[in-house]
Amino acid sequence: MNIDKQKAHLEEQRENLLKDIEKIGVKDSSDPGGFIVKEEKDYAPNDVNDDIDQADEQEMILTNNALLGDLETRLKNVEKALENIENGNYGKCEKCQGEIEGERIMANPSANTCISCM
Ligand SMILES: [Zn+2]
Repeated sequence: MNIDKQKAHLEEQRENLLKDIEKIGVKDSSDPGGFIVKEEKDYAPNDVNDDIDQADEQEMILTNNALLGDLETRLKNVEKALENIENGNYGKCEKCQGEIEGERIMANPSANTCISCM
């Protein structure tokens, strides 16, 4: 395993995740590091579709909420992996403390469990 490559890969993933998060979320002022789903009023005026009605907006918020939660979880895993690179714990399974299989960690650089603990 090439740790520099893994790190570069993780940093790229972090950037992409942040971009995706920014499309649908805004920083939550009451939760540092957290995000909340944008509402119609948060979008730039030219992004707003006038035909969008209340029900559609509610639905959009629900969908984006689920999506945002998923993105946030992935971002947290990526940040955790980057932290582990810094403190030398990268590539260790969180559950059994064994080494995560090279193939698994190369396919998914933010994996935090080995194949048997998955
Ligand atoms: Zn394990």
